[in-house]
Amino acid sequence: MLHIANEDVKKAIGDAVKPQLIDGKFTLSEGGKTFKTYNPATGKVLAEVTESTAADVDMAVAAARRALSGEWGRFKPFDRQAALLRLAELVEKHYDDLILLDSLDLGCPIASGGPKKQRAIAWLRYYAGMAVDIHGDTIQNSQPGEIFSYTLKEPVGVVGSIIPWNGPSGMALWKLGPALAAGCTIVLKPAEQTPLSAIRIGELCLEAGIPAGVVNIVNGPGHIVGAAMANHPGIDKISFTGSTETGQAILRAAAGNIKKVTLELGGKSPNIVFDDADLDLAARGAAMAVFPNSGQICSAGTRLFVQRGIADKFIEKVAEVGNSLKIGNPLDTGTQIGPLVSEAQLSRVMGYIESGKSQGAVAVSGGERLTSGDLAGGYFVPPTVFANVRDDMKIAREEIFGPVISSFVFDTIEEVVERANATTYGLGSGVWTTNLSTAHKVSQRLQAGSVWVNCYQAMDAAVPFGGYKMSGNGRESGRDQIQDYLETKSVWISL
Ligand code: NAP
Ligand code: MG
Repeated sequence: MLHIANEDVKKAIGDAVKPQLIDGKFTLSEGGKTFKTYNPATGKVLAEVTESTAADVDMAVAAARRALSGEWGRFKPFDRQAALLRLAELVEKHYDDLILLDSLDLGCPIASGGPKKQRAIAWLRYYAGMAVDIHGDTIQNSQPGEIFSYTLKEPVGVVGSIIPWNGPSGMALWKLGPALAAGCTIVLKPAEQTPLSAIRIGELCLEAGIPAGVVNIVNGPGHIVGAAMANHPGIDKISFTGSTETGQAILRAAAGNIKKVTLELGGKSPNIVFDDADLDLAARGAAMAVFPNSGQICSAGTRLFVQRGIADKFIEKVAEVGNSLKIGNPLDTGTQIGPLVSEAQLSRVMGYIESGKSQGAVAVSGGERLTSGDLAGGYFVPPTVFANVRDDMKIAREEIFGPVISSFVFDTIEEVVERANATTYGLGSGVWTTNLSTAHKVSQRLQAGSVWVNCYQAMDAAVPFGGYKMSGNGRESGRDQIQDYLETKSVWISL
């Protein structure tokens, strides 16, 4: 098993205060204020980061507006494609830096970088393709006389991208790909818990020849920096990923100048196992639908519904898979489960675990914070599987965002579909069955943006992802996403 050397960590982090990126320059905030980012595996400070102010947001937005009508505005589609492909190449070349920074900042296992790498780069390459395929329509109309009509597609303008901490570099690239392909300019705010990789991505954007002011990065607390963006009259669209509560605050703030808003929010996704399923595959699938990234996954299949005949044995099997995962220092290549992102997240998750126990659910595995040996300083919670959960318990209804599965027993398709849909959320869902009819019926009836059958969490830059109900607005990935970065103009010409 390999362990990243302290020297490499020191080199990646450096001593300097981490800057913001405005108009192509890395700067400190005017007041010189900073905040700290921590390593959740040790609880120790990683780096000081410049805390942007509302005045910095103003400067970033002004730079982004200037860039729209500057050199970037004159980039032809093939120029934007070339810039995105250069950025993709640089991300590929320096991906180890990004995953190391994320691993230190978020606590995600360094080994999770492999599978994430291809997807992160694909978001750039897929939208690079789309940059050269943006077009309006010529439309026949029925107006009297001869009048010709067609549509033009134009970039929406300045986009404010606000991202959460649970997938820092991937999330930033997911926002940049479609925005740049459409010709927009961006002000990006990473979460204050995980700001480090975004700054490195900013460097790569400049190295890729993306002109100054096209990509700006501001750091700091959401209620100040994020709120200043959501309120800003110079921002035309907000693309937000995070909690439903913050999504609601952003929608309210965006009302001022009627910003376009797309939202990727939380979930409490059902994962349904029928008694005819391949139970080994399903047990592994059910565990891995939640436990990677310590359960800090928006579409995690946290409500596990198991058909009565197989329930006890199956839940036991899922717990066994959870118990077999190696918990430890995220920088060890053998580690499968790292810590939660912060002390606040730890107490939130432990609060839910306690509430489950006090309401009568039974922790078949996990259920206690890990504090022995090397794990003592970090925020480690083991994979936890609850049985005896009732639909009205807090752990059955609220998003925990930790490595916790709440399991339920069901009898019929009708019953399980109704219970699965009885939530304000609608992001992911899973179905495990070998019966084709059951697979199709349940997929059609689940109210969720993604349904995974005999798999979970499959994602691709070409396939839309997003939420029904309070899980969001709009879709990311696929053709749908770029449309949210484009305005449609109808042109009428009397001949
Ligand atoms: P969060 O508190 O909503 O934060 C997300 C981002 O919004 C952060 O950058 C945060 O800044 C910022 N923010 C906070 N308050 C704001 C405000 N009033 N105005 C503007 N921006 C504000 O969510 P989180 O705790 O970071 O992330 C966990 C949540 O995200 C979970 O609910 C999860 O389901 C959801 N999520 C959804 C998806 C998806 O694709 N659907 C993906 C990942 C996560 P600071 O943190 O720096 O204060
Ligand atoms: Mg951190």
